[in-house]
Amino acid sequence: MGGTKEAAELAEELVAEGRSVITSLAGRTTEPRPVAGAVRKGGFGGADKLARWLIANKITKIIDATHPFARQISKNAVRAAALSDVALDIRRRQPWIRHEKDIWIEVGDLETAANTIAAGETVFLAIGSQYLQPFEHRTDVHFITRMINPPDSGIALADYKLILARPSSDWRAEAELFQANRVTTLVCRNSGGTGAHAKIIAARELAIPVIIIKMPA
Ligand code: NAP
Repeated sequence: MGGTKEAAELAEELVAEGRSVITSLAGRTTEPRPVAGAVRKGGFGGADKLARWLIANKITKIIDATHPFARQISKNAVRAAALSDVALDIRRRQPWIRHEKDIWIEVGDLETAANTIAAGETVFLAIGSQYLQPFEHRTDVHFITRMINPPDSGIALADYKLILARPSSDWRAEAELFQANRVTTLVCRNSGGTGAHAKIIAARELAIPVIIIKMPA
């Protein structure tokens, strides 16, 4: 179960060991990065159908290497593994730990994050295209939002600039982007891992406050 940098790295390792690997992607990104081994795309239609797919494809191990905020697919993996009697290996990232220079406001959910933003801020909203709804009522905030693909349903933020790009792994590039857009607050999730950490370092170096949503338990 993929869709993350870690899952792609794991697929590469396992393929190099000579194992047969199928990486499952939700199919949200139209041009995902290449992954070693076989790839299948799209939802299964729930845990029961995932279990049937595991049996039909003679899967001997399911590895959940999905994003820590992708909660439904992880629940489905647990149920499907039990139903199909296939071994489940859960690879969970550790959340980022606050550095002494970080200015973090930790919140529990997107709604609280949206309500924590001060009026008039220029906010870099790094949360993924399907999570914008809780921010729509903040007509008093200028949002800069970055995503790989625009959402099919469009963007209903009142005042925003859209940047279609992947996050950079170079914190200086992230810092330049924040400065060029006069960002005053970063809103993101505590996703852990290395792939999206550069923005956290950029905010630290520029002393930009971060409203950060805690990783789900
Ligand atoms: P989610 O809310 O947990 O899943 C919603 C539904 O999407 C699932 O019930 C499943 O549909 C399908 N799905 C999700 N991941 C899948 C996968 N790897 N393979 C096949 N079907 C999948 O997930 P999400 O938050 O939308 O994330 C979707 C994918 O993007 C995940 O693979 C995740 O690793 C990756 N990703 C997510 C985030 C994030 O912020 N959430 C960030 C980076 C990458 P069915 O019930 O029909 O099977």
